[in-house]
Amino acid sequence: MPTPCFVANWKMNKTIAEAIAWLREMEKHQPLLPERGWEVILAAPFTLLCSISEFLKTSSLKIGLAAQNVHFEEKGAYTGEISPLMLRDVGCRYVIIGHSERRLQFWETDLLIRQKIKGAQKAGLIPILCVGETRRERKEGKTIRVINHQLKKALRSDDPQSGATAGSRKMILDRFIIAYEPVWAIGTGETPTPPEVESVHRQIRSFFKPAMGEAASDIPILYGGSVTEKNIEGFMKEPDVDGALVGGASLSAESFYKMIDRGVKAKIK
Ligand code: PEP
Repeated sequence: MPTPCFVANWKMNKTIAEAIAWLREMEKHQPLLPERGWEVILAAPFTLLCSISEFLKTSSLKIGLAAQNVHFEEKGAYTGEISPLMLRDVGCRYVIIGHSERRLQFWETDLLIRQKIKGAQKAGLIPILCVGETRRERKEGKTIRVINHQLKKALRSDDPQSGATAGSRKMILDRFIIAYEPVWAIGTGETPTPPEVESVHRQIRSFFKPAMGEAASDIPILYGGSVTEKNIEGFMKEPDVDGALVGGASLSAESFYKMIDRGVKAKIK
């Protein structure tokens, strides 16, 4: 069974004071958060990571810290970039890689995404790899083809020593989280139906079976795209939906903890 999780992706939002206010509100509603067996992750802008990390050191809040992007090298002449080691140093355990906003607005290629996955894993970070089709690809019936391509490109290892057993596809098999995020559903208020999401998640899981066998059942596969406290239950009731990556609705602590509460209850019913 995968460890289910909820990821708040703040994108380019919040000052330090706003971030601390959000954390204090989450702290007050701690009883609504799962005690164990669940992960709650906060993906904050780089400028907030240090303050959040300090806050969490003295708080009872069980929130894992994530960055929203990373460079693939450990250090060097890369003006404006942040390395995996720097993220570890500031207390991050996770990093979002391949978000469609970065693929589409910052021209991130499959090769770059693979390099970032490798760099992050080498430093001990757990990548949250985002995959998903555009509206056009969906209309043309290419959803699964596109996702399989993104998975293959991002996770295929070019190191013959690593990866799966002989004969199967070589894959980077360290720990990772997959977020299925249809591009057309991000920030639009539109979503696929829960059975449609389940079908894609099941196919994502089968993608990993040849290389990972039964261990494929342990990969957390999250859904992302206009998730709110109103629609979370429908998604979480599906067996292969292990949590959610939440953008807009995570900016309010109240809607985020309500969503976690409803999501957890829907899952354990
Ligand atoms: C996201 O940031 O990945 C996302 C899913 O955003 P939203 O929840 O706002 O659609």
